[in-house]
Parts: sequence; structure tokens; C-alpha cells
Amino acid sequence: MAEKEAQLFRTIKELPPVDYYTSGRRTCAGCGPALGYRMVARAAGPKTILIGPTGCMYVANAHQFLTSPYAVPWYHAQLGGGGSAGLGTAAGLRALMTKGKRKMEDINIVVYGGDGGFADIGLAGLSCALTYDYPRLLFVLYDNEAYMNTGVQASSTTPWGAYTTFTPWGKIKRIGNDRLKKNVALIAAAHPGIRYVATANVAYPLDLMNKVRKALNAGGPSLIHLLVPCPKGWFFDSKYTIMIGRLATETGMWVLWEYDHGRFRLTIKPAKRKPVKEYLALQGRFANLADEDIEYIQRIVDEEWKYWEEMDKVGKIILPWAR
Ligand code: SF4
Repeated sequence: MAEKEAQLFRTIKELPPVDYYTSGRRTCAGCGPALGYRMVARAAGPKTILIGPTGCMYVANAHQFLTSPYAVPWYHAQLGGGGSAGLGTAAGLRALMTKGKRKMEDINIVVYGGDGGFADIGLAGLSCALTYDYPRLLFVLYDNEAYMNTGVQASSTTPWGAYTTFTPWGKIKRIGNDRLKKNVALIAAAHPGIRYVATANVAYPLDLMNKVRKALNAGGPSLIHLLVPCPKGWFFDSKYTIMIGRLATETGMWVLWEYDHGRFRLTIKPAKRKPVKEYLALQGRFANLADEDIEYIQRIVDEEWKYWEEMDKVGKIILPWAR
């Protein structure tokens, strides 16, 4: 069956007026993952099946008081099972259509999993799913940089220096988390034959929603690694969600790129990067950092930025990182 490509958006005014992730949820005020869900579901459209591995976006959206924000089919997957659930759903639909048991049509499968679900516990299943050829199978890693719904425990995408309940600071140890953040999008891009991988940021809705469309049009499994500020776990006032998201990209702490059929490019380039201090200072999880710690983070960002610019120039991914 010939695939019908969904059109890209040129302006916010072109966005469809219908939401498929609506009211009926119990997320915190200013929740970045909830905003991201709404944008992803809207870009994907009505012919979509959503799958939610355990995480904030399962716990706060589905399991209490019999309310649900989903206006398209949705089901829950076990925390580590997002990859296999997406793959199995795609395989099942293909089998039913091939056998003539349901009509041939394009159906999107979007698995919306957190950093616990895709960077840690479910990374193996995600990796497996990315090696298959099922079209319209999109994995969105909504990255709030810790296990928030169980009490803000560190994950492998928690940034260096951040406080979590697993990485507290105190008199003896000034630094919270002393591991550097894992780059899941680059891991996904290392899969042979992968057609589309991107990073995104909930503070850049048009960029995010066009990446959703490109991923679903790509002709194979795809991954979007989406940064989503979390007021509860990052310790900031809920009115700052979008401002903090923007600062992540404006400082170079969260770089927006895509890898589209083997071609790398930066999708948003700050004209002049702001100091990382502007991003860190707004978040209580970094409150204990001394000037020398902030300088260390700045040095890493500056060093990596040279690679991002070079990759953008040559249109390829260059590894490894220098640290
Ligand atoms: Fe959203 Fe964070 Fe609240 Fe979870 S803890 S619902 S991710 S704001």
C-alpha cells in the first residue's frame, strides 16, 4: 500500500485545531511532558494508537478515577516494555491487514515513554524495535531527567550536578549527580538503516510537531528525544516551564538536531549562545553548584558545540565526543 505523507507545518496557524490528548489528566501545573504529549498527539492526528509505558505520563494520565485524556486508542505497557509493545502492535496490524482481516490503511503507532522507559530499563527493547522496518512506528522519549513519579530518583539522563533523591548533596559531597547525561538520540542514530532520529524541546512546538510528522513519514521506526522541563523534579515555579525549555537550547545545554535518512543538521541554531549559568540558576536542583562547577559544565558545552557545528557543516554524525 502506498504511504500517504502527512504535510509539514509552516506556521503555528497551520496546526490542526483538534487535540487528541485533552482534559481528564492529573499532571502537575506546568508539566512539560503533558504539553509534549498534547503536541505529539496533535501532530500525529486521529489515525494513531498511543502506547504509554509506566512513568509520569502513565500514572498521572490513566489509572485513577477512571478518567483519561486520550481521544485516540491508548494502552499501557510495562515500564521496560515500550519497545516490544510498539513492535508487537505494528506487527499485529501488518498481519491483520496482510491476511485481509482488516482494511489496508496507514495507522500511526506512537510510544510515549520516559527516560526510565527508554534510556534505562527499556533501552534494549527500544534498540530491538529500531532494527525492524515497520513504518509509522515512532518512539518519543520524553526526558524529564529523572524518575519523577516515584520521587525524583536519578536516571542515566539526569545531568551532571543535579540533585535527586538518589544523588543528594551534603557537607561531604557538594555535587549531586556525578555522571554525565546519556545521549539516547545518538545511540538510536547508530542503528543501521535507521531513517529518522531527532532531538526536540517542548519550548519549540513547531520544530517538535514537524519532527513528529517527518518521523511518521520516514518509512521505518524512528525516535524523538524530547526535553520536557518538570517543575516538581527540577524545583522551579510552574510558570517557567517554557522559559527554562528555551534556555536549555539557547545555552547549548540541549541541542536541537535531526538525522534524516543519513543527513545530519541542526534545526535550531542560537545566534549567540547564552551562558549555561542562566539555565542552571533558575532550577533548585542545581542550587548547590559552586562557580567552578558551573565553569566545568560551560567547558563541556563549549567543547561539544564545536562538534555539533562541524556535524551540521558536513551533514554527518562524527564520533566520539571529546571530554
Ligand atoms: Fe509532570 Fe513532573 Fe509532575 Fe510528573 S512530576 S506530572 S513530569 S511536572
